[in-house]
Amino acid sequence: MTRTTSGASAFAAASPSGYDVVIVGGGVSGCVLASRLSEDPGRTVCLVEAGPDYGPDRGAWPHTLLDARSLPRDDVWERGTEVHRIRARVLGGSSCVNGCWHTWGSAADHEEWTDAGGRPWSAAAMEPYRLRAVEQMRLRTVPEREISVWARAALAGARELGYADVDVATSGGTGCGTPLINALDGLRWNAAFAYLEHARSRPNLTILGNATADLLTVRHGRVRAVQVVVDGRRETLAADTFLVACGAFGSPALLLRSGIGPADELRETGIRPSIELPGVGANLVDQPGVFVPLTPTAELNAALAAKEGAGELYVSRMLIRAASEVCPGDSWDLHILPSAGDPLFGTLPPGEYEAGISAFLMKPRSRGRVRLRSADPHARLDIDPAFLTDPAGRDAAALRSGLQLVERLAATAAFKPLAGPVAGRPSRDLSDEELRARLGTYWHPVGTCAMGHPDDPAAVVDGEGRVRGVDNLRVADASILPTAPAANTQLPVLVLAEMLADAVKESDER
Ligand SMILES: Cc1cc2nc3c(=O)[nH]c(=O)nc-3n(C[C@H](O)[C@H](O)[C@H](O)COP(=O)(O)OP(=O)(O)OC[C@H]3O[C@@H](n4cnc5c(N)ncnc54)[C@H](O)[C@@H]3O)c2cc1C
Repeated sequence: MTRTTSGASAFAAASPSGYDVVIVGGGVSGCVLASRLSEDPGRTVCLVEAGPDYGPDRGAWPHTLLDARSLPRDDVWERGTEVHRIRARVLGGSSCVNGCWHTWGSAADHEEWTDAGGRPWSAAAMEPYRLRAVEQMRLRTVPEREISVWARAALAGARELGYADVDVATSGGTGCGTPLINALDGLRWNAAFAYLEHARSRPNLTILGNATADLLTVRHGRVRAVQVVVDGRRETLAADTFLVACGAFGSPALLLRSGIGPADELRETGIRPSIELPGVGANLVDQPGVFVPLTPTAELNAALAAKEGAGELYVSRMLIRAASEVCPGDSWDLHILPSAGDPLFGTLPPGEYEAGISAFLMKPRSRGRVRLRSADPHARLDIDPAFLTDPAGRDAAALRSGLQLVERLAATAAFKPLAGPVAGRPSRDLSDEELRARLGTYWHPVGTCAMGHPDDPAAVVDGEGRVRGVDNLRVADASILPTAPAANTQLPVLVLAEMLADAVKESDER
């Protein structure tokens, strides 16, 4: 049986002689890696997660994490925080708290990624892994009964504006469609269920919950151990290979605490630099968006109440892939996302709902940063997404273009019976400051341990996630994508983890 332990008993279960592989971070990527790498009974694998492991029995999981109709706010690193900082702290990672949507990016994404990481990042090379992830996560198309009158009107409105139906879970062009989802009759089928359900019974896999990795001990260009804090006690895990999968905020933070990063910045935090890599924590890319509220009519409220009564109300089930005025080539750089249901934040009286349309900027040029405030692994990180800060102002221009499309969509005949028009000043008249004040996020941070060409000084890892200057260390999660996909990020992360699991297996065989 898998040794699944947490708290003080965790290290009684840990192998004193060390593991073949230690995976730090049990989120989306960590679950894939643990599952695939423990397929070989001869390889011992330990998965270390800061949050709880609620185990294989669904009955032991908090209801909020299982309910795919809402975005839970428990089991996160920080409560009551700014919206762009939200990230899960639980085995299964952000797949336990997210919207269960899966879309795929554009040909332009693959060009950017192959430039940085080589041929494995081409659309053709990634496709078998995409199909593998779709199957393992049991992704499926949205059932007809889950499409609300609002989503149906949005599809009709998009067609009125000339958008053709497209399969948004594959590359292609602009258009409208419904995503693939990992919600099975209202159950959020997270990565821990999808990837560890069978793997848990393997004797060569140990899962340590409630174990926060503090730092990696690096000596002579090799990681010797990872130091982990459990119930305030510091413990050490040894391994031949270390895979870091703590997500776009957690992975750079772990490297920085380990002395891997920009030397001057590390010294300022009181950390002795061991490997100079200026790109660690830099290049943070997230996809900002603006929600435009509309006023629901009685007809819409009644239709949504009926859907909710039947247990089939999901806030959003369709999107438009659109190109802004500044989008290069024949790609897209916007997701237009109509939603109607319970408010994401706050509450409304029974029978009343929030309805509106969001515009999300999918290919931001602005770059933010993750920094440490202190060497304490439990301290708040300094996370600056730097939304709409690109010097040429193209991000603000693209977002304004998206908001104009929102206004045109809301004015289509399809929406007339359901909601009043957009109130207030037209979006083209909003100043950058006004836009910034209304920004939210799609929650898709990437780029903080970016892969890149060997001669790129900002590159942290190569195309197989190997950290420059450290022999036995890879980063394998959202943080290695150098640019955001024109898509939601969970499917790309599942796919890159599947790819990198194969890369580790192949390098073991060499
Ligand atoms: C609210 C929200 C909604 C989203 N909606 C969608 C959506 O609908 N569709 C979509 O495609 N994507 C969505 N995403 C994004 C998607 O969930 C992420 O892209 C994906 O989870 C990234 O996977 P990851 O493995 O890189 O990181 P994560 O899944 O975040 O996993 C990182 C894990 O590492 C652990 N960890 C961090 N630091 C340490 C440490 N020091 N020691 C031990 N463990 C550590 C964390 O606790 C966490 O479990 C959403 C994200 C959020 C937050």
